[in-house]
Amino acid sequence: MSFEKLGLRADLLKALAQKGYALPTPIQAQAIPAILDGKDVLGGAQTGTGKTAAFALPILQQLSESPTETKGPRALVLAPTRELAAQVCESFQTYGKRLNLRSHVVFGGVGINPQIKALFQGIDVLIATPGRLLDLAGRRAVDFRNLQCLVLDEADRMLDMGFIHDIRRILKLLPSKRQNLLFSATYSPEIKRLSEDILDRPEMIEVARRNTAAETVAQSAYQVEKNQKRVLLSQLAQEGNWEQALVFTRTKHGANRLATQLSSDGIDSAAIHGNKSQAARERALAAFKKRSVRILVATDIAARGLDIKDLPFVVNYELPNVPEDYVHRIGRTGRAGKDGQAISLVSQEENKLLWGIEKLLGRKIEFVGSETPSNAKPKPNGTRSGGKPKNRSASKRPSDRRSEERNGPENGEKRNADSQNWNPRETERQPGSRRRRRRSGSSKASPNPSSEAAKPLNRFRKFFSKRPLVPSR
Ligand code: AMP
Repeated sequence: MSFEKLGLRADLLKALAQKGYALPTPIQAQAIPAILDGKDVLGGAQTGTGKTAAFALPILQQLSESPTETKGPRALVLAPTRELAAQVCESFQTYGKRLNLRSHVVFGGVGINPQIKALFQGIDVLIATPGRLLDLAGRRAVDFRNLQCLVLDEADRMLDMGFIHDIRRILKLLPSKRQNLLFSATYSPEIKRLSEDILDRPEMIEVARRNTAAETVAQSAYQVEKNQKRVLLSQLAQEGNWEQALVFTRTKHGANRLATQLSSDGIDSAAIHGNKSQAARERALAAFKKRSVRILVATDIAARGLDIKDLPFVVNYELPNVPEDYVHRIGRTGRAGKDGQAISLVSQEENKLLWGIEKLLGRKIEFVGSETPSNAKPKPNGTRSGGKPKNRSASKRPSDRRSEERNGPENGEKRNADSQNWNPRETERQPGSRRRRRRSGSSKASPNPSSEAAKPLNRFRKFFSKRPLVPSR
């Protein structure tokens, strides 16, 4: 299937050729004809699948075919974060550069007056974060009377971030007759409710199952004490000659501290998080995209929606509390069919979080290195006895030890009870389906000691005898 066959006009095809897109991605192949047909769409697609072009291209085409003199936006895209909103706007501008259409982005954290001015001058596509859009609407700076199309991008994240009330307030301001497109990586009961309220007989398009990581991302983990993580990360980056890595921490202070420490280790690093001004966030991101910064340390919210071309590594310096965030994090690499590596540094206290992630993914994440003492006995609640490592070699493979530890939470704990697979047509979960998938995932992932998968486990011993195993590109 080519872009030509999707019915896109020559101006858009030229822009795509210039971007080097040879073929449509699966979400583009399915969504573009449906949107051009005027249908509502419920898209189950995570970031990295090409979903932005999947809605931007047909919207641009539709708007270019019905030019008007009105000032108000004819298409509105709501996005959860400033970074994602800015990227979506950039995509509209890139794809539509041969069309006589104006796309503009508005978000908080920057002056509102230039935004009011731009809206007054007239725009065709408005990309906005919900809070700032309501501010602008409250000042009567936006005229929605000619709105034809609404897109909720990363709707699940907007709900996670508490935007549901803002979204409902915005919906009340829009004309009731319009096309609606909702994209979400996950399909929670809240998303189901929202889509039922907004969408009219939608075309349901699913390109990646909920909570699955892209197959192009190789996932691995190191079992490492908290206070050893920084040293390990420095070594991995330096000895593996990492060109670039996006590193996730759980806190803003942690992000700042780590970026400073890595810089003092000689690895140019910057931090990006919600306490930084928009200008500082943009500077850090631009430096990373220009490759003058090798490591960008980010918190989940700040990194949401970041599209960094050819990013080879994502590191979970600390595992996220919410398993779904793991999927979002590692989706920054392995994008558009490129290979990527996701490496998690897991302290003993975080083993439970890792179980949660594995349960969600339905597969194990292999440990390729560990400094866990071999004599550490698993406790019934899944934690291990603490203390400093006495012996850095492991008598059992980490995967074996972890499966023992896992017995506690696996059997006794209700984790992710409301997790559902992406299936908008499914009203009830199949009984036992998660458990079956989990088991088959585990057995598949257990490496035979002589297998390829077990080799890193032997090699990790070298890591702690000062010759680290370093994934490199
Ligand atoms: P998205 O999921 O919209 O964030 O897109 C992920 C990345 O894929 C972006 O860097 C896009 O530029 C890129 N991309 C989108 N569509 C295509 C395509 N058809 N071929 C190659 N790359 C694409």
